[in-house]
Amino acid sequence: MKTLILGGGVGGHVTANLLRKKLDKEHEVLLVDKKTQYEFSPSFLWATMGWREPSQITRNLSLLEEKGIRFINAEVLKIEPSARSVKTSAGEFTYDYLVVALGAELAPYAIPELSGEARHFYELEASIKLKDAVEGFSGGTISIGVSSTPFKCPAAPYEAALLLDYHFRKRGIRDKVNFQFFTPEPQPMPVAGPRIGGMIRQMLEARGINYHPNLKLASTDLKKRELYFEKGEKIGWDLLVAVPPHRVPNVVKEAGLTDGAPWVPVDKWSLSTKYDDVYAIGDVALIKLFDAMALPKAGVFAHGQAKVVAYNIVADIQGGEEKRFNGKGNCFIETGFGKAGFADGEFYAEPRVVNIKRPRISRIWHWEKILFEKYWLWRWF
Ligand SMILES: Cc1cc2nc3c(=O)[nH]c(=O)nc-3n(C[C@H](O)[C@H](O)[C@H](O)COP(=O)(O)OP(=O)(O)OC[C@H]3O[C@@H](n4cnc5c(N)ncnc54)[C@H](O)[C@@H]3O)c2cc1C
Repeated sequence: MKTLILGGGVGGHVTANLLRKKLDKEHEVLLVDKKTQYEFSPSFLWATMGWREPSQITRNLSLLEEKGIRFINAEVLKIEPSARSVKTSAGEFTYDYLVVALGAELAPYAIPELSGEARHFYELEASIKLKDAVEGFSGGTISIGVSSTPFKCPAAPYEAALLLDYHFRKRGIRDKVNFQFFTPEPQPMPVAGPRIGGMIRQMLEARGINYHPNLKLASTDLKKRELYFEKGEKIGWDLLVAVPPHRVPNVVKEAGLTDGAPWVPVDKWSLSTKYDDVYAIGDVALIKLFDAMALPKAGVFAHGQAKVVAYNIVADIQGGEEKRFNGKGNCFIETGFGKAGFADGEFYAEPRVVNIKRPRISRIWHWEKILFEKYWLWRWF
């Protein structure tokens, strides 16, 4: 049997490793990615802060070959579920099982003028460019925020604001920096509920970061360096940092896997799509929770889903009982000063249960995150 995995990020990488470990050698495992390197995104903001060099948080995907996984460095061009075939820039591949783990694609800003102007930290290269901009910044207004939802890692823009605040305090010029945070969300991390959202908002405000929820970007004036929002609000900037819009990769949409939805609807327990032999995991997938909110786009879920899908493919081929994805996840929230918080949640529970662990903001969680980074890169490469 042949399993073809599209995407070598969190979900694809974990699926490939687990399948190779558990399946007999006669069964093939192939992984396609257009990049040559895996990049550990939870550390992108540490790269912006100058705490990580790219080489510390990237690994070559060709290392998969040493484990007996065939790595195809190519772009996926066409997925044809009815023919059980995928066209790539390196040729065509057939499959018995297909795992789509192509993530969320970053789209150009809806306001095209922002493309040359706004910085972000949603790719490693962009995070390094932001580092240069931050280091060269000596005072003025930093407008930081969310251009549209959904976006991956619901905590990331809030962490970015807190870490930038910390950066300028360390440089002794915080009093010269005015922070404005804008987002279309009604509160920070809506899926985590009002209590956690309120805590994050308080944290921002205690640090002098002005928080503006419910603001939908409408237009901009590059000369005046001003953002305009749908209800007439206006925010200026000297340095603009904006989470770019996210969208489902075109190749996934063209394959008919989205069925008119913005992402790929999947069975919330098995991650199967409308095709029995095609699974979609991680950011590309759409899982609606009991109150119609979507399961957030986060590596912790891509990882958990990869385990379930790998387990169930092995069970299908070699026998065994099926597993179900449980919707559990957690995340660190970096706050600067060598500290972080840690939240965990049961996202399939009704009502949802999301808690901030005690001690709420502590050095312990920052060190836990460092250990997690080291462990993850060691465990999977
Ligand atoms: C700054 C930042 C911080 C984050 N922090 C956390 C965190 O602390 N905890 C957490 O749980 N999550 C975090 N995340 C979110 C996490 O990175 C994603 O949710 C996770 O990577 C999703 O995994 P995935 O496998 O679905 O997709 P990805 O990891 O994005 O992988 C998709 C892969 O598909 C490849 N690909 C895409 N299109 C094609 C194509 N056409 N052809 C070939 N290859 C293609 C890409 O090159 C990529 O390697 C963070 C994200 C960011 C940006």
